[in-house]
Amino acid sequence: MKSAVLKYGLFALIFLYSTTLLAQNSAGNDTGTHPKRVKVTIAGSITASLNRVLGQGNGDALSAHAGRLTMWWLDLKKDVLKGDTLEILYKNAELPAIYQIHALRYTSQKKERTFSAFLYNGHFYDENGRELEPRLTHAPIKSYFQVTERMNIAGRNHHGVDFKADEGTALFAPYDGIVERIWTAPANGNSLKIKLDHQNQKAYYLHLSKVEPGLKVGMRVKAGQKVAEVGNTGRSTAAHLHYELHDKNEKIIDPYLNDEIYYQTIPAAYVESFTEWRNYYLSLLNAGNN
Ligand SMILES: [Zn+2]
Repeated sequence: MKSAVLKYGLFALIFLYSTTLLAQNSAGNDTGTHPKRVKVTIAGSITASLNRVLGQGNGDALSAHAGRLTMWWLDLKKDVLKGDTLEILYKNAELPAIYQIHALRYTSQKKERTFSAFLYNGHFYDENGRELEPRLTHAPIKSYFQVTERMNIAGRNHHGVDFKADEGTALFAPYDGIVERIWTAPANGNSLKIKLDHQNQKAYYLHLSKVEPGLKVGMRVKAGQKVAEVGNTGRSTAAHLHYELHDKNEKIIDPYLNDEIYYQTIPAAYVESFTEWRNYYLSLLNAGNN
């Protein structure tokens, strides 16, 4: 009897422990409580619509996170129409900065479809398990959490792409090229510029923790060679890479529109687990529509 209780207790403990691990690994958050759900019918901007329901400040904060997902589907200046619907499953702690979206669904009248994003293992995927964010074939960074800003999206004057990543994450030359400049400035922090053989484009890396030791102006670099590490130097509030691609005339161009992209999908071994999470989120989203 005693050993059965022990055995069962141990089994329960292991089960609980592994479920917790699964929950943390799979969705990047705990499942102790269901995420909160908010549904708004759009009138004005997404931010204004969320603020009406959640209150000023809360809406601003959640909207900033929502924008990182919706920016891949919509031109936020032109495509957000009155009467569209937005649903978000999210968790938050005391600080708005730690809002975490678990799922988001947007029904667009202009695009005549519903877009969905589900958090799984730290990244967002659509209902079929295709990653929401496109990836650059000739990428300056391979391992990162999320693209937090693109070029000039939603009326913001942002001249590049921001990749949120841990300090020290390796950065690479996207093509063969020549190191043109290595410098430090108050706003941009430690910076690196490479003139690329590819169409004479220029690649800029800002806010670095460091440029690769030994790299000097005038040196040739190969595509895929490590050139620097992600940092938080200059005017930057969290570790990230600010990456700019300029054409031969130094005009800033959007790498997602001017270079090759591809999409990652959930590996076969994780499809079942992803599907369970997606269905869990769908049930929470749909529960509010009864
Ligand atoms: Zn930036």
